[in-house]
Amino acid sequence: MAIERTLSIIKPDATRRNLTGKINAKFEDAGLRIVAQKRIHLSPAQAGQFYAVHKERPFYGELVEFMASEPVVVQVLEGENAIAKNREVMGATNPANADAGTIRKEFALSVGENSVHGSDAAETAKEEIAFFFSGLELVG
Ligand code: ADP
Ligand code: MG
Repeated sequence: MAIERTLSIIKPDATRRNLTGKINAKFEDAGLRIVAQKRIHLSPAQAGQFYAVHKERPFYGELVEFMASEPVVVQVLEGENAIAKNREVMGATNPANADAGTIRKEFALSVGENSVHGSDAAETAKEEIAFFFSGLELVG
């Protein structure tokens, strides 16, 4: 199996409720290594650019406003099959459909305020990591 890296974001609903450590424990317990991490407050323009792929969706405005509302923690997770593994640990987008034990089942408030973002494929992982981190910040 390939060692991959994926981009994760702990969203404002979770940083606000002081859940960063509990969420990071879920990643580490699943064998994912946090190889880069920083807490930042996105501007609406930055959040809009990050989620540009969703700009035609009806929830885009609400999503951008939410992601820029309070600080987020952006991080790079590394491990075997990290992209798919992280999606498993996150659970379904809508917490009502998420499996027991997943981050979204345990912590998400709603389909919008769902505690975490994770890249969905190798190409998006590469782009999303480069959006937030320089090579110098990725120490492995
Ligand atoms: P995921 O984060 O699971 O990859 P998507 O890429 O489809 O899900 O959507 C991006 C984000 O947009 C979601 O994580 C969620 O915060 C928000 N979102 C998705 N669907 C809805 C919806 N129906 N209503 C409000 N917000 C939504
Ligand atoms: Mg997505």
